[in-house]
Amino acid sequence: METTPSTHLNKNRFSTLNVLQWALPLVLGATAIIFEFVEHGLENEIHFDLSFVSEVIIFGMMGPLCVGLIIGWMRQLMAAEQQAIARVHALNRELENKIIERTTALEQRNAELDNANRELQKLDEMKSEFVSLVSHELRAPLTAINGGLEVALQSSDSLPPASRLTLEAMMDESARLTEFVRTILDVSRLEAGRLTFNLGPVAVTPIIYRSVEVSLGARRVVKWNLPAAIPPIWADEIHYEQVIRNLLLNADKYSPPKAPIEIEVHVNAHSVRVEVIDHGAGIPNEMQDKIFERFQRGESGESTPSGWGLGLYFAKKLTEAQGGVLTLRSPACSKLDEPGSSFSITMPIAADAPEEGDHV
Ligand code: ADP
Repeated sequence: METTPSTHLNKNRFSTLNVLQWALPLVLGATAIIFEFVEHGLENEIHFDLSFVSEVIIFGMMGPLCVGLIIGWMRQLMAAEQQAIARVHALNRELENKIIERTTALEQRNAELDNANRELQKLDEMKSEFVSLVSHELRAPLTAINGGLEVALQSSDSLPPASRLTLEAMMDESARLTEFVRTILDVSRLEAGRLTFNLGPVAVTPIIYRSVEVSLGARRVVKWNLPAAIPPIWADEIHYEQVIRNLLLNADKYSPPKAPIEIEVHVNAHSVRVEVIDHGAGIPNEMQDKIFERFQRGESGESTPSGWGLGLYFAKKLTEAQGGVLTLRSPACSKLDEPGSSFSITMPIAADAPEEGDHV
């Protein structure tokens, strides 16, 4: 058993009590008997009567016996206390060992998790690098294919109708693939921090008009709600326009062809919010956060328009990198058959830039 200063002290006390249990009654008994002898011998001229015998029995024998018994009882108590202390010490040691065991196991588990995490990060980086490399390598052949198809289509009048249709379908698919490759490359550049942002004062209205013209053309009814004066925002013109175009393309893609698309601009004290509202099927609550994640798409079925689930992820990242916020509200209107969605991009006002004129 491990000896601590307190157990050592207890041992000393225990052996003292051991000696005392025998020595003290003997000394007390002897003293009492001598005292009685002296007292009765001197008083009664060595005449030992009943009082002498009873006093010797009481003071010389029973008294010391009681003292001996009390000391013996104290010794037992002390022995029990020592055993209890030893048991507590043993339990403590067991507990400490268990804690050490568990802590070591936890540390090992943490190290394993750290390793697994690092491996996953490495794999993710490798995957991104691979995707970026493949996309990069696809760019040059795609440009050649697009150029060839364009030339072929220019002289397609002489071709049979079936061949012309095939050429047109090839042109569409090739354009889609080119757009996909461009988005993948932009996303990997953004994730690697290699996409440059030239922030400065940007006029909102011309960008909205240009985006509508490029993304929707004349095929959609657009309802406008723009204030008379919109202050310039602080953004990167190219990336800001990219986000607006993306929202317009989605509104077009995910709402019935005849339904109008609404564009609203709200000027607040420190920001300008551009809202693109469509009258499509809307986005269920449980999907509203997910669709901003990489490669996440909404419900898919036969009639679902094609896509890769990268547009909103990229749009959100681009907006945030410019100090803006991209939000979604769906349903956007009270009509049950066309609840619609409203995507808003809010950018800070370029406070030191001159006020923008009336463009409406
Ligand atoms: P993609 O359109 O290529 O699938 P996005 O990232 O642009 O990728 O969109 C992710 C998903 O969000 C889409 O698959 C679609 O389900 C949903 N979504 C985006 N815009 C709208 C919209 N205006 N109305 C309804 N659903 C939309």
